[in-house]
Amino acid sequence: KAGRRPLVAGNWKMNGLRSSVSVVEAVRNGLTPAIHDAVDVLICPPSTLISSCVAATYGSPIAIGGQNLHAKPSGAFTGSISAEMLADLGASYVIVGHSERRAYHYETDDGVHAKALGARRAGLCGIICVGETRDEREEGRTLDIVRAQLAIGVPKGATAADTVIAYEPVWAIGTGLTPTPTDVAEVHASLREMLGRLIGPEAEKVRILYGGSVKPSNARELMAVENVDGALVGGASLVADDFLGIVNAYA
Ligand code: PEP
Repeated sequence: KAGRRPLVAGNWKMNGLRSSVSVVEAVRNGLTPAIHDAVDVLICPPSTLISSCVAATYGSPIAIGGQNLHAKPSGAFTGSISAEMLADLGASYVIVGHSERRAYHYETDDGVHAKALGARRAGLCGIICVGETRDEREEGRTLDIVRAQLAIGVPKGATAADTVIAYEPVWAIGTGLTPTPTDVAEVHASLREMLGRLIGPEAEKVRILYGGSVKPSNARELMAVENVDGALVGGASLVADDFLGIVNAYA
Protein backbone atom coordinates (compact mmCIF):
# COMPACT_ATOMS: atom_id res chain seq x y z
CA LYS A 1 0.00 0.00 0.00
CA ALA A 2 1.46 3.34 -1.10
CA GLY A 3 4.74 1.52 -1.59
CA ARG A 4 4.94 0.39 2.03
CA ARG A 5 6.36 -3.07 2.39
CA PRO A 6 4.27 -5.17 4.77
CA LEU A 7 5.75 -6.52 8.00
CA VAL A 8 4.46 -9.53 9.91
CA ALA A 9 5.96 -9.60 13.39
CA GLY A 10 5.63 -12.35 15.98
CA ASN A 11 5.72 -11.51 19.68
CA TRP A 12 6.38 -14.62 21.74
CA LYS A 13 5.93 -12.75 25.04
CA MET A 14 7.29 -14.75 28.02
CA ASN A 15 7.12 -18.07 26.19
CA GLY A 16 9.79 -20.35 24.90
CA LEU A 17 12.71 -22.44 26.12
CA ARG A 18 15.73 -23.38 24.04
CA SER A 19 13.72 -26.10 22.31
CA SER A 20 11.42 -23.39 20.89
CA VAL A 21 14.10 -22.34 18.44
CA SER A 22 12.67 -25.19 16.36
CA VAL A 23 9.65 -22.94 15.71
CA VAL A 24 11.96 -20.38 14.09
CA GLU A 25 13.58 -23.13 12.04
CA ALA A 26 10.15 -24.31 10.87
CA VAL A 27 9.17 -20.75 9.91
CA ARG A 28 12.43 -20.38 8.03
CA ASN A 29 11.81 -23.63 6.16
CA GLY A 30 8.22 -22.67 5.38
CA LEU A 31 8.99 -19.32 3.75
CA THR A 32 9.46 -19.31 0.00
CA PRO A 33 11.47 -16.72 -1.94
CA ALA A 34 8.15 -15.42 -3.31
CA ILE A 35 6.90 -14.71 0.22
CA HIS A 36 10.15 -12.97 1.13
CA ASP A 37 9.73 -10.82 -1.97
CA ALA A 38 6.34 -9.70 -0.72
CA VAL A 39 6.66 -9.27 3.06
CA ASP A 40 9.15 -8.65 5.86
CA VAL A 41 9.06 -11.28 8.60
CA LEU A 42 10.16 -10.63 12.19
CA ILE A 43 10.18 -12.81 15.28
CA CYS A 44 10.56 -11.32 18.77
CA PRO A 45 11.43 -14.15 21.17
CA PRO A 46 12.30 -13.63 24.84
CA SER A 47 15.75 -12.04 25.25
CA THR A 48 17.18 -15.36 26.40
CA LEU A 49 16.57 -16.82 22.93
CA ILE A 50 17.65 -13.90 20.73
CA SER A 51 21.16 -15.26 20.13
CA SER A 52 19.98 -18.71 19.16
CA CYS A 53 17.16 -17.34 16.99
CA VAL A 54 19.65 -15.07 15.20
CA ALA A 55 21.82 -18.11 14.58
CA ALA A 56 18.83 -20.14 13.37
CA THR A 57 17.91 -17.46 10.82
CA TYR A 58 21.45 -16.72 9.67
CA GLY A 59 21.47 -16.13 5.91
CA SER A 60 17.68 -15.81 5.74
CA PRO A 61 15.73 -12.54 5.51
CA ILE A 62 13.87 -13.29 8.77
CA ALA A 63 14.61 -10.55 11.30
CA ILE A 64 14.87 -11.09 15.05
CA GLY A 65 13.83 -8.47 17.60
CA GLY A 66 13.48 -7.76 21.29
CA GLN A 67 10.23 -7.27 23.18
CA ASN A 68 11.41 -4.45 25.42
CA LEU A 69 14.47 -2.36 26.24
CA HIS A 70 15.81 0.08 28.80
CA ALA A 71 16.10 3.61 27.44
CA LYS A 72 19.70 4.07 28.63
CA PRO A 73 22.67 2.45 26.86
CA SER A 74 24.17 0.96 30.06
CA GLY A 75 24.38 1.55 33.78
CA ALA A 76 23.09 0.53 37.19
CA PHE A 77 19.72 -0.85 36.08
CA THR A 78 19.72 -4.39 37.39
CA GLY A 79 17.85 -6.83 35.21
CA SER A 80 17.43 -4.44 32.30
CA ILE A 81 18.64 -4.77 28.73
CA SER A 82 19.63 -1.87 26.48
CA ALA A 83 19.10 -1.34 22.77
CA GLU A 84 22.85 -1.65 22.30
CA MET A 85 22.79 -5.08 23.92
CA LEU A 86 19.95 -6.21 21.67
CA ALA A 87 21.74 -4.88 18.59
CA ASP A 88 24.94 -6.58 19.71
CA LEU A 89 23.09 -9.92 19.65
CA GLY A 90 21.92 -9.34 16.10
CA ALA A 91 18.44 -8.00 16.82
CA SER A 92 17.21 -5.38 14.37
CA TYR A 93 13.83 -4.43 15.87
CA VAL A 94 12.41 -3.94 19.34
CA ILE A 95 8.81 -3.67 20.54
CA VAL A 96 8.24 -0.48 22.54
CA GLY A 97 5.30 0.18 24.85
CA HIS A 98 3.38 -3.06 24.42
CA SER A 99 0.14 -2.83 26.39
CA GLU A 100 1.33 -5.58 28.72
CA ARG A 101 4.39 -3.46 29.56
CA ARG A 102 2.13 -0.46 30.08
CA ALA A 103 -0.27 -2.44 32.29
CA TYR A 104 2.11 -4.58 34.35
CA HIS A 105 5.29 -2.48 34.31
CA TYR A 106 3.75 0.98 34.52
CA GLU A 107 5.20 2.22 31.27
CA THR A 108 4.10 5.71 30.40
CA ASP A 109 3.96 7.51 27.07
CA ASP A 110 7.03 9.52 28.12
CA GLY A 111 8.84 6.27 28.90
CA VAL A 112 7.84 4.94 25.49
CA HIS A 113 9.30 8.07 23.91
CA ALA A 114 12.60 7.59 25.77
CA LYS A 115 12.75 3.94 24.75
CA ALA A 116 12.03 4.77 21.12
CA LEU A 117 14.95 7.20 21.22
CA GLY A 118 17.09 4.43 22.73
CA ALA A 119 16.14 2.06 19.93
CA ARG A 120 17.07 4.65 17.31
CA ARG A 121 20.37 5.43 19.06
CA ALA A 122 21.40 1.79 18.69
CA GLY A 123 20.20 1.46 15.10
CA LEU A 124 17.16 -0.65 15.96
CA CYS A 125 13.73 -0.12 14.46
CA GLY A 126 11.26 0.53 17.30
CA ILE A 127 7.73 -0.88 17.02
CA ILE A 128 5.73 1.62 19.05
CA CYS A 129 2.47 0.11 20.32
CA VAL A 130 -0.70 2.10 20.95
CA GLY A 131 -4.22 0.97 21.78
CA GLU A 132 -7.33 1.65 23.81
CA THR A 133 -8.87 -0.41 26.60
CA ARG A 134 -12.41 -1.75 26.35
CA ASP A 135 -13.72 0.99 28.66
CA GLU A 136 -12.03 3.66 26.57
CA ARG A 137 -13.61 2.25 23.40
CA GLU A 138 -17.05 2.05 25.02
CA GLU A 139 -16.68 5.66 26.13
CA GLY A 140 -15.96 6.66 22.52
CA ARG A 141 -12.43 7.78 23.37
CA THR A 142 -10.47 5.42 21.10
CA LEU A 143 -9.12 8.01 18.67
CA ASP A 144 -8.24 10.50 21.41
CA ILE A 145 -6.33 7.83 23.33
CA VAL A 146 -4.31 6.39 20.45
CA ARG A 147 -3.52 9.81 18.96
CA ALA A 148 -2.24 11.03 22.32
CA GLN A 149 -0.13 7.89 22.76
CA LEU A 150 1.33 8.47 19.31
CA ALA A 151 1.93 12.18 19.82
CA ILE A 152 3.94 11.60 22.99
CA GLY A 153 5.57 8.31 22.06
CA VAL A 154 6.93 9.01 18.58
CA PRO A 155 10.26 10.89 18.66
CA LYS A 156 10.83 13.97 16.54
CA GLY A 157 12.34 13.14 13.20
CA ALA A 158 11.14 9.52 13.28
CA THR A 159 11.49 7.81 9.91
CA ALA A 160 10.17 4.67 8.29
CA ALA A 161 13.61 3.12 8.81
CA ASP A 162 13.61 3.54 12.59
CA THR A 163 9.90 3.44 13.44
CA VAL A 164 6.92 1.14 12.98
CA ILE A 165 3.58 1.77 14.67
CA ALA A 166 1.36 -1.04 15.96
CA TYR A 167 -2.30 -0.43 16.71
CA GLU A 168 -3.25 -3.01 19.31
CA PRO A 169 -6.63 -2.57 20.98
CA VAL A 170 -5.99 -3.86 24.51
CA TRP A 171 -9.33 -5.69 24.57
CA ALA A 172 -8.39 -7.62 21.41
CA ILE A 173 -5.06 -8.97 22.69
CA GLY A 174 -5.19 -12.65 23.53
CA THR A 175 -8.99 -12.61 23.69
CA GLY A 176 -10.00 -13.88 20.26
CA LEU A 177 -11.94 -10.63 19.78
CA THR A 178 -11.09 -8.31 16.91
CA PRO A 179 -12.43 -4.93 15.84
CA THR A 180 -14.35 -4.84 12.56
CA PRO A 181 -12.38 -3.92 9.45
CA THR A 182 -14.28 -0.63 9.47
CA ASP A 183 -13.12 0.13 13.00
CA VAL A 184 -9.53 -0.80 12.13
CA ALA A 185 -9.66 1.41 9.04
CA GLU A 186 -10.91 4.36 11.09
CA VAL A 187 -8.13 4.06 13.68
CA HIS A 188 -5.34 3.47 11.15
CA ALA A 189 -6.46 6.45 9.05
CA SER A 190 -6.48 8.61 12.15
CA LEU A 191 -3.02 7.38 13.18
CA ARG A 192 -1.67 8.10 9.70
CA GLU A 193 -3.10 11.60 9.84
CA MET A 194 -1.61 12.21 13.30
CA LEU A 195 1.75 10.88 12.12
CA GLY A 196 1.62 13.40 9.30
CA ARG A 197 1.27 16.20 11.85
CA LEU A 198 4.21 14.81 13.81
CA ILE A 199 6.72 13.93 11.10
CA GLY A 200 5.35 15.38 7.87
CA PRO A 201 5.41 13.52 4.55
CA GLU A 202 7.54 10.71 6.02
CA ALA A 203 4.29 9.53 7.66
CA GLU A 204 3.24 8.04 4.33
CA LYS A 205 6.21 5.66 4.48
CA VAL A 206 5.86 4.48 8.09
CA ARG A 207 4.25 1.08 8.49
CA ILE A 208 1.24 0.81 10.78
CA LEU A 209 0.59 -2.76 11.91
CA TYR A 210 -2.61 -4.15 13.37
CA GLY A 211 -2.31 -6.44 16.40
CA GLY A 212 -4.84 -8.31 18.53
CA SER A 213 -6.00 -11.89 17.95
CA VAL A 214 -4.67 -12.10 14.40
CA LYS A 215 -5.02 -15.70 13.15
CA PRO A 216 -4.68 -17.40 9.78
CA SER A 217 -8.49 -17.30 9.51
CA ASN A 218 -8.83 -13.51 9.87
CA ALA A 219 -5.45 -12.32 8.58
CA ARG A 220 -6.48 -11.80 4.97
CA GLU A 221 -9.48 -9.65 5.89
CA LEU A 222 -7.55 -7.53 8.42
CA MET A 223 -4.46 -7.15 6.24
CA ALA A 224 -6.61 -5.93 3.33
CA VAL A 225 -7.80 -2.90 5.32
CA GLU A 226 -6.55 0.44 4.07
CA ASN A 227 -3.51 1.72 5.99
CA VAL A 228 -2.87 -1.70 7.54
CA ASP A 229 0.72 -2.54 6.66
CA GLY A 230 1.10 -5.83 8.45
CA ALA A 231 0.44 -7.59 11.73
CA LEU A 232 1.84 -7.88 15.23
CA VAL A 233 0.98 -11.42 16.26
CA GLY A 234 1.08 -12.83 19.79
CA GLY A 235 -0.37 -16.26 20.46
CA ALA A 236 -0.43 -17.44 16.85
CA SER A 237 3.29 -16.71 16.43
CA LEU A 238 4.16 -19.56 18.79
CA VAL A 239 2.94 -22.16 16.29
CA ALA A 240 4.94 -22.20 13.06
CA ASP A 241 2.01 -23.23 10.85
CA ASP A 242 -0.25 -20.51 12.28
CA PHE A 243 2.42 -17.84 11.89
CA LEU A 244 3.14 -19.00 8.35
CA GLY A 245 -0.60 -18.94 7.63
CA ILE A 246 -0.66 -15.27 8.62
CA VAL A 247 2.46 -14.41 6.61
CA ASN A 248 0.82 -16.14 3.67
CA ALA A 249 -1.99 -13.58 3.74
CA TYR A 250 0.53 -11.52 1.74
CA ALA A 251 1.59 -14.26 -0.64
C1 PEP B 1 0.41 -9.14 21.07
O1 PEP B 1 0.90 -9.66 22.04
O2 PEP B 1 0.97 -8.14 20.58
C2 PEP B 1 -0.81 -9.70 20.49
C3 PEP B 1 -1.39 -9.07 19.51
O3 PEP B 1 -1.29 -10.87 21.03
P1 PEP B 1 -2.40 -11.87 20.38
O4 PEP B 1 -2.08 -12.02 18.93
O5 PEP B 1 -2.23 -13.15 21.14
O6 PEP B 1 -3.73 -11.23 20.60
